[in-house]
Amino acid sequence: MDRRVAIVTGAARGIGAAVAARLARDGLAVAVLDLTSEACADVVADIRAQGGTAVAIGADVSDTAAVDAAVDRVVAELGPPTVVVNNAGILRDNLLFKMTDDDWDAVLGVHLRGTFLMCRAVQRHQKAAGWGRIVNLSSTSALGNRGQANYAAAKAGVQGFTKTLAIELGKYGITANAIAPGFIATDMTAATAERLGMSVAEFERGVAAVTPVNRIGTPEDVAHTASFLVSEGAGFVSGQVVYVAGGPKD
Ligand code: NAP
Repeated sequence: MDRRVAIVTGAARGIGAAVAARLARDGLAVAVLDLTSEACADVVADIRAQGGTAVAIGADVSDTAAVDAAVDRVVAELGPPTVVVNNAGILRDNLLFKMTDDDWDAVLGVHLRGTFLMCRAVQRHQKAAGWGRIVNLSSTSALGNRGQANYAAAKAGVQGFTKTLAIELGKYGITANAIAPGFIATDMTAATAERLGMSVAEFERGVAAVTPVNRIGTPEDVAHTASFLVSEGAGFVSGQVVYVAGGPKD
């Protein structure tokens, strides 16, 4: 079998960087995509240093032309992508009465439109191969979270979008699943601690105390789940939302 080619978005840091590294260790060639290719340089260098194959791709996932050009570059540099992990994300938290049009549009644009654009661009390569894996990052915030009306709507939207792709694309050998992490220690959660007026350590201790497994999550926890969902053996798992949250979620 030819080596599978994966695109991981928002992969310059945090969860995306861990997913890119893990898929490369699993033997996939990985397009490490983030807003600029320079931001991806360290992740690509680490993967190559460990004997993996990776290229850096700069693109804004909310921009149709940029996404289509990025996927064309992946085809040219690594081959047709059949795995996509839509992980790029931003926060613009605010209570509803203070939330601006831009807060709303920016978050929906990156998380929901970005996931749509990337899936639409990649699916033709997946269909041509008769095989594909789509993994979209949702969040426990999809269940509702104070100060995150935009983000919760986007992440709930990602779940409905993912289930629909599972239904539409299943006959082509393509699975689509969402991962909904709870608290995963990254720059994003550090920014949330700051917004809440807490130190990162204080915030993390508080979250761990109310998490059944009694710890916070790591990017590698999410990467492990992504690795399973894109694996050859996971072909009968589709349309699911997997909570990686250290305990049950409704
Ligand atoms: P992060 O550390 O903030 O990393 C997100 C990455 O996405 C950054 O490198 C960012 O680039 C990039 N990005 C932002 N906008 C982009 C765009 N338009 N096009 C391409 N790349 C873009 O976030 P994270 O904590 O690893 O989160 C990754 C994903 O998991 C997100 O979808 C997030 O919503 C989800 N998630 C995270 C948690 C958590 O606890 N951390 C929990 C649930 C879900 P810049 O650095 O230039 O902004």
